[in-house]
Amino acid sequence: MKQLTGNVYYFQSYPTVSMAVTPAGCIAIDGPMKPTDAVKWRDFILSKGPLRYQIVTEHHQDHICSAHYLKPEVVISSEITCAEFFKSVANAEEGKQRMLKYDPAAGPLLEGFEMRPPDVTYKERMTIRLGGRTFVVFHGAGHTRGQSMVHAVEDRVLFASDNISPGQGVAFHSADVWGWFKTLGLMEALDVDWYVPGHGAPCTKAEFPKQREKMLDLIQMVREARNKGMSREECQRTINFIDGYFDKKGYGRPRLLGERSYMLMRGAVGNIYDCLDDHPTGGLHTREDPLWENI
Ligand SMILES: [Zn+2]
Repeated sequence: MKQLTGNVYYFQSYPTVSMAVTPAGCIAIDGPMKPTDAVKWRDFILSKGPLRYQIVTEHHQDHICSAHYLKPEVVISSEITCAEFFKSVANAEEGKQRMLKYDPAAGPLLEGFEMRPPDVTYKERMTIRLGGRTFVVFHGAGHTRGQSMVHAVEDRVLFASDNISPGQGVAFHSADVWGWFKTLGLMEALDVDWYVPGHGAPCTKAEFPKQREKMLDLIQMVREARNKGMSREECQRTINFIDGYFDKKGYGRPRLLGERSYMLMRGAVGNIYDCLDDHPTGGLHTREDPLWENI
């Protein structure tokens, strides 16, 4: 658990989770995917004050199972994240089985586990005023269509969620590929000192050119393969940016994902392939996430 600014703390678990402390209680952004980490994070939060709000920034497995342990008064997400909430983990039983796999020590903590979907949703943005401070929760399609971010105005921090994922890049698997570029522009324009990503360490505005370059390079890889006549499936079989491009650029491997990162990479290539012909101002169809076995 590390302190980023006077009132903001983060914990580089999986995912990177964070919270802000105010005189009227705390606001948490996401929560650890491992129950054993989640209970440690809960105790840390409680040492600073009651947990009033938890923002769930997306519907993937690593973001949606912690509310049972953190016990916020109110869970908040975007409407899209709420609509897709059970697409990544279908029910509590499935959640427990997955948690035992990635957190074998969690056994006793799984007793009575329940999925806790959002209590409150918003569409474009909402403002939370807590303890005299301002938190703007807003929708910014990117890593997922429903991605939420939280701007802690006085703290000069953007909780960027997986819309910034240094060194990862498999993050395209259920992305709004073109919308992400618009969202990056908005994020970069905010008057903040720090960006807390969904994975990895807090970063500054210096991260944006790198993030854009990586995204454009991956899209170009898929575009060139498609233009050579490769089908979607051939692209998924052939393009391996984890073992090639990432190493060349020194991005490092996706941490903790192991074999799953290759499954996500194939998902990323397929999703980019599907979006190649959409105009970046917006496609004609609304893409919805498929039911994923294992994200
Ligand atoms: Zn995700």
